[in-house]
Amino acid sequence: MTIYAQPGTEGSKVTFKPRYEHWIGGQWVKPVKGQYFEDITPVTGKPFAEVARGTAEDIDAALDAAHKAAPAWGKTSPTERAAVLNKIADVIDANLELLAVAETWDNGKPVREPLNADLPLASDHFRYFAAAIRAQDGDHAELDADTVAYQFHEPLGVVGQIIPWNFPILMAVWKLAPALAAGNAVVLKPAEQTPVSILVLIELIGDILPPGVLNIVNGFGVEAGKPLASSPRIRKIAFTGETSTGRLISQYASANLIPVTLELGGKSPNIFFKDIADADDAFYDKAQEGFALFAFNQGEVCTAPSRALIHKPIYDSFLDTVTARTAKAIQGNPLDTDTQVGAQASNDQLEKILSYIDIGKQEGAKVRLGGERADLGGDFAEGYYVQPTIFEGHNKMRLFQEEIFGPVVAVTSFEDYDDAISIANDTLYGLGAGVWSRNGNVAYRAGRDIQAGRVWVNNYHAYPAGAAFGGYKSSGIGRENNKLALDHYQQTKNLLVSY
Ligand code: NAD
Repeated sequence: MTIYAQPGTEGSKVTFKPRYEHWIGGQWVKPVKGQYFEDITPVTGKPFAEVARGTAEDIDAALDAAHKAAPAWGKTSPTERAAVLNKIADVIDANLELLAVAETWDNGKPVREPLNADLPLASDHFRYFAAAIRAQDGDHAELDADTVAYQFHEPLGVVGQIIPWNFPILMAVWKLAPALAAGNAVVLKPAEQTPVSILVLIELIGDILPPGVLNIVNGFGVEAGKPLASSPRIRKIAFTGETSTGRLISQYASANLIPVTLELGGKSPNIFFKDIADADDAFYDKAQEGFALFAFNQGEVCTAPSRALIHKPIYDSFLDTVTARTAKAIQGNPLDTDTQVGAQASNDQLEKILSYIDIGKQEGAKVRLGGERADLGGDFAEGYYVQPTIFEGHNKMRLFQEEIFGPVVAVTSFEDYDDAISIANDTLYGLGAGVWSRNGNVAYRAGRDIQAGRVWVNNYHAYPAGAAFGGYKSSGIGRENNKLALDHYQQTKNLLVSY
């Protein structure tokens, strides 16, 4: 067990600057309008740094820098770009603890997560796309004896990216790695709730890239995000966030006829078939762990298994076991590596979750566990903590249909296979799903019948680089984390040559 010191106190590797600017053209740049906003740590509920508050003018300055840098970066060889991406990956690995503490302080997540998952995944995604761009082949067709059609991949030029607050560094990396590998210059806007850990990363990696290839403009959605997404000076916008915001992004983009990648919300079903109770202890244990993952990252995960569907014959026994197990999850100081459940990312998010808990109670769902704000006392008394909460109800309730984005799971039972698939698919969303069964036939069929872009079978919440990720239905457009993402950041040049 390690308890990291709070940033800025004795023994901490992290000392935040009192004020963070935009990163534009390879340097820190003050906001044109001179305004700043406070970044608050959810760990204690207190502000810890000021951050430049971007407007359309700052976006324009970043786009100027990106346009200046894009032609030369786009002409570098895949080998050169791969070397740069691999260097960034090395720097992330070499600064794991510093970045993990910064991420936890900004977002509230237990430090074990960025240490063991988010950051190793971030460096691995850079390495994956470094390898993918080097391995990418062109294409040609001999049309007749004298004519050949050659196909080349070319970068789009300057692209915009907007990300949410739940995995600040990892969400940035999921977008940056393929865009940079493909040879684009980027203007990225972090979420206003969690800009600082990304800026700490930029302090470490900013100089590895040529000036202007990567630009960060901080700020709020309408003030900074909208001018970026609606600018006619970008050739693509990639967005991760709420489905309702994704609709707006899509409208802005359509006015300029540019493509979008949208990674949106979810209400993922996690299905437990009765045969798991007959499996060996290790498998049954893994399935219980799979249920408890609804509280992973405080439920602030787009693919959180927020609906648990349990086969009727095992409903009572399985729910008893997993309720007892979830009750043992350690909630506490997010900087303690033993902590499993940390703080929600913002006060708004805390209030949203508590209001959904009230809605659940009002619509008659039964509370099996939790159901209250968690009071940790001491330094953490004003932090944003919610008890992991288990509700029982039915799929027509709002608890089962609307994304809560908190440590709240809605549990229901199902009669048979068809009932399970019908409940699972009875949602606007189609991002993630889990299936637990020892019967390979059932697991395979369910994996294919569920309308979601990612179905975890007998595991949950792995995001390895290489496994394509993205949504069906209202959960999004496009794919990330796989070489397919390179297509979203490239255009095809056809050279039709007569010899
Ligand atoms: P959000 O939509 O409120 O904000 C996301 C980003 O969009 C922020 O940077 C915000 O400033 C910006 N934004 C807001 N309004 C904008 C506008 N009008 N124009 C341009 N930019 C605007 O989402 P959030 O609350 O930050 O994030 C939580 C959501 O993200 C959840 O719905 C979650 O499911 C989703 N999410 C999806 C994935 C995925 O891969 N599918 C991953 C993580 C999070």
